[in-house]
Amino acid sequence: MNTTENTNTIFPKGEKLSPEYFTGMASLYPLVPKDETGTFTAGSVSFEPGARTNWHTHPLGQILLVIDGKGYYQEKGKPAKVITKGDVVMIPSHVEHWHGAAKASSMTHIAITNIGKQGPVDWLAPVSEEDYLSVQ
Ligand code: MN
Repeated sequence: MNTTENTNTIFPKGEKLSPEYFTGMASLYPLVPKDETGTFTAGSVSFEPGARTNWHTHPLGQILLVIDGKGYYQEKGKPAKVITKGDVVMIPSHVEHWHGAAKASSMTHIAITNIGKQGPVDWLAPVSEEDYLSVQ
């Protein structure tokens, strides 16, 4: 039994995500593969404390359903928003952003990502340690 606070108890953590696109320990448990419409996927993404995505955009947007812990969502040029269990984040198309755990807490969200001809995501640079620490 895992007694760590803020541990996701709904879905398994899944497989570690690539350090090319994620800083720290982030993992994906796929929930819904592309169906015959090919228009979206859904998965549970778990971030250990300090872990986050690179900056990135979604050609057709993304929805995050936070199911555990505490973290941040930040759009380029705007203050970061604290996100905690129960929050829903709607990310517009082509808006540069990142999401991840807080320095002192893990965070898990379900990501529903729309998929068009341009694919689900365009990856950009990592979130620098300075930028990440400044939002805590
Ligand atoms: Mn995103």
